[in-house]
Amino acid sequence: MENCLFCKIANGSVPSNKVYEDDTFLVFHDIQPAAPTHVLIIPKKHIATMNDVGPEDYAMIGELHRVAQEAAKKLGVAETGYRLINNCGPDSGQAVYHIHYHLIGGAKLGALVQ
Ligand code: 5GP
Ligand code: ZN
Repeated sequence: MENCLFCKIANGSVPSNKVYEDDTFLVFHDIQPAAPTHVLIIPKKHIATMNDVGPEDYAMIGELHRVAQEAAKKLGVAETGYRLINNCGPDSGQAVYHIHYHLIGGAKLGALVQ
């Protein structure tokens, strides 16, 4: 998707501060961290939202949990705790329409919904 910011980050044409990368996934630091640890986990495949995840993606999305576990360990929050958040659609505040999971931790986190 030529106009998708996270596709550009995935293919390296827009720079990011990477935590982990393989052929399928990229983990990088959020540009506006909401907590001491705040990274984004994306599949390199362009999928706009959670609603667009199809049966052909279920195994890959499952695998994303392995990537999240490894990122949490690497970032030192596996034991202290963290949240893995996907925003889907307007009410969630989704701003970038390339599926991504926020991994947030490093501090006591507030209520999920204000
Ligand atoms: P959303 O609201 O779509 O779930 O989250 C999008 C996230 O992407 C936000 O937390 C925002 O700070 C982050 N973000 C937006 N543009 C960039 C960028 O160019 N680089 C990085 N690393 N993060 C970005
Ligand atoms: Zn994309």
